[in-house]
Amino acid sequence: MNENHVYDMIIVGGGPGGYTSALYAARAGLDTIVIEKLSAGGQMSLTWQIDNYPGFENGIDGFSLAEKMQKQAEKFGAKSEYAEVFNMDLTGKLKRVETSSGIYIGKTVVIATGANPRELGLAKEKELIGHGVAYCASCDGMFYKDKIVVVVGGGNSAVSDAALLSRIAKKVIIVHRRDTLRATKIYHDQLMKTENIEFRWNSTVKELLYGERLTGVRLKDTVTGEENIIECDGLFVSIGRKPTTDFLDNQIELDNKGYIVAGENTETSIPGVYAVGDVRTKLLRQIVTAVADGAMAVHMAEEYVEK
Ligand code: NAP
Repeated sequence: MNENHVYDMIIVGGGPGGYTSALYAARAGLDTIVIEKLSAGGQMSLTWQIDNYPGFENGIDGFSLAEKMQKQAEKFGAKSEYAEVFNMDLTGKLKRVETSSGIYIGKTVVIATGANPRELGLAKEKELIGHGVAYCASCDGMFYKDKIVVVVGGGNSAVSDAALLSRIAKKVIIVHRRDTLRATKIYHDQLMKTENIEFRWNSTVKELLYGERLTGVRLKDTVTGEENIIECDGLFVSIGRKPTTDFLDNQIELDNKGYIVAGENTETSIPGVYAVGDVRTKLLRQIVTAVADGAMAVHMAEEYVEK
């Protein structure tokens, strides 16, 4: 790579928001590079079946959709680089992005780093990952065929994880800290009708029980304080996500949860820097809203570069 090369747009993160920015930028004739840590797709690539992205009447798996988005952007000239971003200097007219494969310079930067699963913060939680504790049902669900699993959380992710696991596991127990789900209504009825799904309302996981691997969880009733044990083979933690913004080192304004403050026009507190997809403050974090952000960021960046 040539460290003196100045890109029109550097996109950090190769999820749906990142690759849509790349598609629009490359089609607009901007010299564009996507820097992605692992593989295209971000969190989307871990999703087994996506039924709410228009254009695929039978749904599509996230990995395939990610590959298609990457290929489409590259067809118009966008480049991809697999590297980890360590540091950024975004304040000047030329932005500097330090990565494991060298330094990239760009006139504009799109941050599309998404968000990662939140942890419960329990003792031994990290050590038991891969030994009974998991954060991705579509990735690890297959290891729990005919087993008993607990899913923690009451949002859309938790219920779709529970629905997926109910087709693999013998029994799925949803543990939620309140007595109603946060998830969209359409999912409630479907789950209530599923024979091998049980609910433990007003409950939190207080402790992980284990030998060589997870053997159960100790629950605490949030109303009465009573405790009880569920024996289980797996625990899927599905309690929301944490935005990937640590590497920004306080250069950009973040909200109190760590999301980059940016409105529908994706502009951040720094001119020429845009935030797209799950990493920015927004009401609805979906693939369709991430791809819309990608198009908008390029629109704003083109105006900025022209000025
Ligand atoms: P979410 O909507 O923020 O839900 C997180 C859930 O975890 C909530 O029920 C919350 O409880 C619970 N929770 C949070 N911290 C907890 C803790 N420390 N201990 C126990 N429970 C805890 O997150 P999400 O389900 O990951 O969804 C994220 C976004 O993606 C949402 O906008 C969602 O709509 C979207 N999504 C959409 C789809 C779809 O439409 N197909 C699928 C997946 C995700 P409370 O309810 O009490 O706050």
